[in-house]
This record gives sequence, C-alpha cells and structure tokens, in this order.
Amino acid sequence: MADAKTHEGSCHCGAVAYEVDTDLEGLVECNCSHCHRKGLVLNFVSPDAFRLTAKGPQTEYLFNTHKIRHLFCDTCGVQSFARGSTADGKEMVAVNIRTLTDIEPFSWTAQRVDGRSF
Ligand SMILES: [Zn+2]
Repeated sequence: MADAKTHEGSCHCGAVAYEVDTDLEGLVECNCSHCHRKGLVLNFVSPDAFRLTAKGPQTEYLFNTHKIRHLFCDTCGVQSFARGSTADGKEMVAVNIRTLTDIEPFSWTAQRVDGRSF
C-alpha cells in the first residue's frame, strides 16, 4: 500500500470511532442478504492498520458460517467495521468506508461482488 493514508471514521453518534491506514483500493460492494440490507462498502485491511479510538458498546452479529463478527453501535446502530479472517486464515478487519468521516461520499469506486451466489 504505497499510497496508504490514515483516515478517520466513526459510527453516527460517535461512540465508536477509529483510524485506518489504507489506500482505499479494492473496495467491495456486495449483494449478499446482509451487505445489501446495510449498504456496506468494505475495505479489507490487516488488524495492525486499524485502531479503535472510541470504544463505545457494540453488539456482535453473526450469521451463516459465523466467520465474520459484524459489530454495530448499541446507540445508533451503525456498523463501522467487522472482524474476521481471510480464506487463508489471516485476521482482517472489514471497514465500512461509508463511515469514514474525512472523505466525500461518492468520491470512491467500489467493485461489485456477487456475494449472493457464493
Ligand atoms: Zn453510534
């Protein structure tokens, strides 16, 4: 990630906030039953590129294979990120880039992925 920059993000009420080092490449928009409902646009990063700066209470939501721990703020319901692992077992954080506070909405391009068919 040669052009990685530190970005800031948060849930809507601010109880959950984070910093992430990313070049915002390889963004994914997925049509699975979960991503589609939440409108998630995801950026997969390694855990060492992600730092929680406000740790308000969150609820974990699991479904399907329970491999990804989706977390949403107990106060405002916004999902800022999820934790899980890649197919080869590496830990990763899936950041919902719609919760970044320092980039313009629609300034990014995401690849559409057919998660519904997986
Ligand atoms: Zn919140």
